[in-house]
Amino acid sequence: MNTAPTVRSISDLSSDVADQHAKVLLVDDDRDNLLALHAILEPLGQELMLASSGLEALRFCLEHDFAALLLDVRMPDMDGFETAELIRARKRSSHTPILFLTGYRSDEQLFRGYDLGAVDFLFKPIVPEVLQSKVAVFVELSRKEQLLRRKTEALERTERKFRAVLEAAPDAMVITDESGVIQLANSRTDSIFGYAREQLMGSKITSIIPGWDPVWSERAAASNPLCVPETRVVALRRDGSTFTAQITTSPFEVDGTCITTAIRDATEQVQAEQRILRINAELEKRVSERTADLMRSNDALRQFAWAASHDLQEPTRMVLAYSQWLRKSGHSKLNEKEQNMLTCVEQNSQRLQALLEAIREYIYISESGDEQWTTVDCNALVHNVLGTLQGAITESNAVVECMPLPALESVEILLTQVFQNLVGNAIKYRADGQTPQIIITSCTNNDGHCVFSVQDNGIGIEPQYAEYIFNVFKRLHGQNYSGTGIGLAICKAAVERLGGRIWVESELGKGSTFRFAIPQRKPA
Ligand code: ADP
Repeated sequence: MNTAPTVRSISDLSSDVADQHAKVLLVDDDRDNLLALHAILEPLGQELMLASSGLEALRFCLEHDFAALLLDVRMPDMDGFETAELIRARKRSSHTPILFLTGYRSDEQLFRGYDLGAVDFLFKPIVPEVLQSKVAVFVELSRKEQLLRRKTEALERTERKFRAVLEAAPDAMVITDESGVIQLANSRTDSIFGYAREQLMGSKITSIIPGWDPVWSERAAASNPLCVPETRVVALRRDGSTFTAQITTSPFEVDGTCITTAIRDATEQVQAEQRILRINAELEKRVSERTADLMRSNDALRQFAWAASHDLQEPTRMVLAYSQWLRKSGHSKLNEKEQNMLTCVEQNSQRLQALLEAIREYIYISESGDEQWTTVDCNALVHNVLGTLQGAITESNAVVECMPLPALESVEILLTQVFQNLVGNAIKYRADGQTPQIIITSCTNNDGHCVFSVQDNGIGIEPQYAEYIFNVFKRLHGQNYSGTGIGLAICKAAVERLGGRIWVESELGKGSTFRFAIPQRKPA
């Protein structure tokens, strides 16, 4: 299990140190004196340790750090001065404050004591209040020193972490003051710019980023921290060569404003972008060449189809006319089989005529030209369409219900084609023995387009054919219903010329709803 690292603040450290007891060592060969000192100092609430000889005091000093040491001068074997000398000689206790306790006021003793680093002398008989206040001062001093040491260690740790992060950065990281004087830089800076880091310290960042501006960092500070703006600038290497650098800057406050500038060599990125631009331009050129080719061959095909459908009309008309003449004049001489064959010729020439007509219609509708955009009253337009289809309506007893439709800017002939084909199909593809019920409505969609729908109760369409039937010559019910398979392709071409789209919603046996959405005015 991962435990999050504990981040300790400086105030945490202060309370830690305040909670700890300072250690004070009392050294006297006289047990009663020791107990008396202990009794005087106990109210200070610190940890008091007792040693009855210089040797024992030395042993304590090897194992503990003391805030103060109270040392009796007169002791058998090793006196206070000798003990102090040995204590001072050890690194751990070389700075421990020593207070000598003595019964004699002699200058010689004083000199020797101070020489050995004594911080004070206390003369017997000891005045408890004086002893207490002196020791309290040293306890406080030791506590402050300890706090200072801990703070220094914490700062050193933080700085080590900061430098490690700086070094781990993939970019050159330069820290400057507000005027751009470099205070700190990571080793990536050396490798990118070719300087030894010491050469950069104290120099201006403009020597490597000539256009550097402290305003960038203000801009970065004001922006969303998750998307600090990047700036592309020219960067200067030590050898005088230049490269494109991508830089981000951000300010922070330590003894005034400092600015971190992260610098990335963007040469490869710039080259990649230029390559993409070149490829894009090349692709665009190829696409427009190909489009022009396609348009040329499309045009040629269209002209061919137009000419073929035109030139085939006359021979078809002739075949039909001669077969009709033959039926009239030679009817009595033809046997039944020959008469059937003649009927077949007539029907196929009529079908061919209808197909040629539909093809010409389709070519005309799908060819963009300068169509007439006018205000079209759709109520009147549908009324006319229903008039054209009156024969089929009467013959099938169809009921056509037309809701109020809008007037819009459109091309009348194209809209007429669409409604004629959709209503015509709605009548034609009726279910056996059923009266066609047709509803024409319109509404406006979210794009502001007008959506028209022609709904019927006919045989319906399996959903997988919903797109297929809008292609030329695609028919689903060719056996039982007459037709050319071009009507819906004409609708699609007309709607697309009007800047819209057409689709069908249907299920087999459940009727169909054809919808088309077109703009209310001529697209720009
Ligand atoms: P045509 O009607 O001449 O066959 P269309 O292009 O108008 O050609 O229609 C293509 C096919 O889509 C039709 O053959 C028919 O199978 C199907 N279809 C069109 N309209 C309807 C409709 N309202 N209900 C059912 N099927 C339809």
